[in-house]
Amino acid sequence: MRAKIVAGNWKMNNDKKESKQLIKDLKKSIKRLKFKNTRVIVAPTFVNLSSSIKAAKKSRVEVVAQNMHHAKNGAYTGEISADMLKSIGIKTVILGHSERRTYFNETDASLALKVDAVLANELETIFCFGELLEDRKANNHFAVVESQLTNALFHLNASAWSSIVLAYEPVWAIGTGETASAEQAQEMHAFIRGIIAKKYTTEVADAVSILYGGSVKPANAEEIFSKPDVDGGLIGGAALNVNDFTGIIKAI
Ligand code: PEP
Repeated sequence: MRAKIVAGNWKMNNDKKESKQLIKDLKKSIKRLKFKNTRVIVAPTFVNLSSSIKAAKKSRVEVVAQNMHHAKNGAYTGEISADMLKSIGIKTVILGHSERRTYFNETDASLALKVDAVLANELETIFCFGELLEDRKANNHFAVVESQLTNALFHLNASAWSSIVLAYEPVWAIGTGETASAEQAQEMHAFIRGIIAKKYTTEVADAVSILYGGSVKPANAEEIFSKPDVDGGLIGGAALNVNDFTGIIKAI
């Protein structure tokens, strides 16, 4: 049975003290919740990963990284390698967030290299992708999503997919307050599962957790998560508030 996941992407927010406090608060607020087969994830900034891991000890909160460079080491000023992340206990890395694609020119090709590096290092990735508003308006969203997955992930062999979590994030819904409807999310998630089944097998497709991201809040989470192909959410803004994030976890 594929895992349900609620993952909070903190982006460039929270200093060391704030990161530790938010994790402490989160641990407390989810302590008594009963949930099985469900992962709770937070992604602080690089500099706060170590202290966040420490703060999350003895809880079910997993701390993951927001990005990673594909090279093992070398002259890449400002970048972080898989070895560095592994050396502090990181097991999962978010890749391909739309902000990385938009502001840091990440492409399907550069992301394919990062995915390969993640897998070569026995890490897991939460791989983000999704169409722009203009793609959806032009009714091009399925083609865009299919090409993003084909270019960045479909060179992988079937066994690699046990280390992949997908996060469908329509760019027009990220940080805008605009959410895809539960039906739109389900339609796209079913499409994604369908193309994975076609390329690999139904077993591979059925085992992949596919998260929805884009202005998920406690008020809309339950409806979105109720859809059969939506296995949880990648949460931006609402992950910065312990009550909101807990509300979303409760919805799953
Ligand atoms: C995100 O950045 O991945 C995201 C989904 O943000 P928000 O929830 O704020 O739309």
